Amino acid sequence: MKYIGAHVSASGGVENAVLRAVEIGANAFALFTKNQRQWQAPALKAETIEKFKRFCQAHGFSSAQILPHDSYLINLGSPEAEGLEKSRAAFIDEMHRANQLGLTLLNFHPGSHLNKISESDCLARIAESINIAIDAVPNVVAVIENTAGQGSNLGYRFEHLAEIIQQVENKKRVGVCLDTCHTFSAGYDISSLAGCQSVFQEFDQVVGFEYLRGMHLNGSKTPLGSRKDRHDTLREGTIGTEFCKFIMKDDRFNGIPMILETINPDIWAEEIAYLRSLEKV
Ligand SMILES: [Zn+2]
Ligand SMILES: [Zn+2]
Repeated sequence: MKYIGAHVSASGGVENAVLRAVEIGANAFALFTKNQRQWQAPALKAETIEKFKRFCQAHGFSSAQILPHDSYLINLGSPEAEGLEKSRAAFIDEMHRANQLGLTLLNFHPGSHLNKISESDCLARIAESINIAIDAVPNVVAVIENTAGQGSNLGYRFEHLAEIIQQVENKKRVGVCLDTCHTFSAGYDISSLAGCQSVFQEFDQVVGFEYLRGMHLNGSKTPLGSRKDRHDTLREGTIGTEFCKFIMKDDRFNGIPMILETINPDIWAEEIAYLRSLEKV
């Protein structure tokens, strides 16, 4: 079973995200459980938690179909003590919120070295941050997203993801999310069927499909290897559509949330229907 949806708005309360996913014909969704541009957020109210869980149950969303995303401010590999401490506390809060909502995944960008520490030191800090969060909050899997490699962001090589996972003590609580725009921008050519076959084989060898806990399905506005994070709609842009066909026909992508973060929410329903149509061909 393929779980397909989009990163829907949670404005007016996280429970509204469920209804927005239903509206676009999704059987998966992503959301922010707090304002993604602020450090602090009021705690989730018991009433909100109850409504969120009730709506999920009513519309058939299990925790395997929902991929919350953390705040953009968090840098789990921060070279500065203050930034690192603040990020770790905020990440634990994000994990706690996910757990309160009955969710079992939390998607995040690994972190940036800000040109102050080495890549391997930064990756070690990220792994340590994950270990701390896993100890602090039960149930939730830390899902590392690959990046385009913009600025000093790590996670643009599959080897980075593997190096983090290697240093996480409880391997059951760590996973990865591959974003197709980021993958392509980082230099992995998924614009053809043969390209998809070889890139995902490389992913399997370096990281392993057993760690794949989510996908972000996005087009890209920039060329292969641009190291820029500029999403496009699904079918326009520089990657083409072969990757959609490849993913929709490959069983290794079953049972994980596959989330559109494409730039036009007005056509999400259409993009989901398009992906669905590829399953049968
Ligand atoms: Zn993404
Ligand atoms: Zn992105």
